[in-house]
Amino acid sequence: MTITPTLNEMQGHGFSMGGEPLVSIDLVDTVARKTQPPFDMLAGEGSADAWWALESGRLPNAPTPDPIATRRLRDALREVFEALIDSRSATGSAIQDLNAFADSVPTSPRIEDTGNGMQVTTRWHHEHGGNAALAAIAREAIAFIGDEAESSKLRRCANETCSMLFVAENSRRIWCAANVCGNRARVARHYQRTHESSAG
Ligand SMILES: [Zn+2]
Repeated sequence: MTITPTLNEMQGHGFSMGGEPLVSIDLVDTVARKTQPPFDMLAGEGSADAWWALESGRLPNAPTPDPIATRRLRDALREVFEALIDSRSATGSAIQDLNAFADSVPTSPRIEDTGNGMQVTTRWHHEHGGNAALAAIAREAIAFIGDEAESSKLRRCANETCSMLFVAENSRRIWCAANVCGNRARVARHYQRTHESSAG
C-alpha cells in the first residue's frame, strides 16, 4: 500500500510544496530556484530526514539517501522536467544521470502466499549498491515521461517568482499551492482593484 503525504503535512514540516502524485515532482520542488540565492529546503538541520520520512509511505525501504546523490538526482529531474515543459532537449548529462539512478538498484517481482491469497511484491536488490529510494524515484519519473497523457499535464507555477512544478490533473490549476502562490495573486488583484477604484 502506498501512502502519499498531504500538502498540509509537507507544509507543517517547512516544505512549501509537496504531496503531489509523484515523489519526483515533490523532490524537484524542494528547491525554490528563483529566490536569490536559491533556497534548498532539504539543507536545514533535520530537513532531509523529515522529507524522506514524509515520502517513505510510497518508496521502497532504504536508508536515508546521501545528500550529494539526492541533489544530483534532483538536478537531473529538474532539467528533464523543465525541458519537457519548454519542449526542448534536455542536457545529455541530466539524461545520463537519470538513467544511471534508475538502473542503480535492480528489482525482481515476487509472489508471497499470505495465507489469504497471493500477494505480488517487488524485491529491490540493494546488495549490489545504490539506494532503492533514489532508484525508485528515477524509475517513477521515467515512467511518467513515457506516459504522454500524464506528462503533458506537467506545469510550472504561474507565479513568475516561483519555480515549483506540478502535474495539473485539473487543467484549470495554475498555482503550485493555492495557499502560497494563489493567495499572493488574489491579494495582488485585490490591491490593484481597490487601488484603481480609489484612483479613479
Ligand atoms: Zn508557486
